[in-house]
Amino acid sequence: MTLRPIIAVTRALPGSLNLPNAEIRPGPQDKPDRDWVLRHIAGTHAVVTMFSDKVDSHFLDAAGPNLRIVANFAVGYDNIDLSACRARGVAVSNTPHAVTEGTADLAWLLILAAARHLPAADRFARSGQWAQRGTLAMNDFLGQDLTGKTLLIVGAGRIGHATALRSLGWGMRILYTARSKHWDFELAPLAATRVPLDEGLAQADAVSIHCPLTPETKHLINRDRLALMKPTAILVNTARGPVVDEHALADALATGRLYAAGLDVFEHEPQIHPALTASDRVVMTPHIGSAAARYREMMTAMVADNIAAALAEREPPNRVA
Ligand code: NAP
Repeated sequence: MTLRPIIAVTRALPGSLNLPNAEIRPGPQDKPDRDWVLRHIAGTHAVVTMFSDKVDSHFLDAAGPNLRIVANFAVGYDNIDLSACRARGVAVSNTPHAVTEGTADLAWLLILAAARHLPAADRFARSGQWAQRGTLAMNDFLGQDLTGKTLLIVGAGRIGHATALRSLGWGMRILYTARSKHWDFELAPLAATRVPLDEGLAQADAVSIHCPLTPETKHLINRDRLALMKPTAILVNTARGPVVDEHALADALATGRLYAAGLDVFEHEPQIHPALTASDRVVMTPHIGSAAARYREMMTAMVADNIAAALAEREPPNRVA
């Protein structure tokens, strides 16, 4: 490419996008509206998108014929119409690995917080109710003990593996579901067993979801599958909200069919089902799996590498389409 390429970023990025030969149109701190984004990307050669940007034919038309790559600042790319990009010869890349450890940490934060009623206990301790009530009874705030219990990983990829590794500290038996056999799960130190999803749900004490959102995984955890779970089990979702039927989850928690849930992602985020926000059996975070400066800066560096490759007509290292 001989002209100075133009790169639009839809949100302010952490760290710097190291592309010295390009003209960069920076993005705002707060999420801009769609019309602003469509104007901002006009005539660009590369666009850095967030998982909240819907990249469809309308978006690609607004960018115009010079567009070479959509570099998603996320590992999930369910916000992007891959076939529309392919049809126009636009490459798509993501940021794997950089988010793995942070998201696995968050999965464990939610598993433990849900098992031990952290939100209710925190509220109680800071509200003055403890001082009013005095010493607790032996069965106040009793939670679930996970030592030696069974963990099911749904989606045996990078984050699922890092989450399973952390469970070794609790001596857990690990089950996993995926469409194919994963040797890194089968072999030491995990020595995990691949099971059909329904069987895993019936056996697990904690279930952690790590599969991508695809047409096949939308509502993978539905009412019937929630009914298979133990009433003492915990469900954690740090993947994508629509993998779980939120309405069915709210019912399962309200009726005691399920012990507790830990959620970082929501079906209609940033809106959250009111029965979930009202439930003491849910601990929630606002989609912050990768929210540590180090991981986010790595994501920016990966985005820059992918764009540099596409503009030089090389294969982007994290190309997904
Ligand atoms: P990954 O390495 O691609 O792992 C995903 C795994 O899911 C694959 O190994 C795949 O194995 C499995 N899978 C795909 N379809 C499946 C299905 N129908 N049923 C069961 N398993 C299925 O991805 P990752 O890096 O671990 O990331 C996983 C997801 O986490 C991302 O897609 C993203 O949506 C989410 N995420 C969220 C945050 C956050 O902030 N909360 C941060 C990062 C990532 P098979 O091919 O063998 O089925």
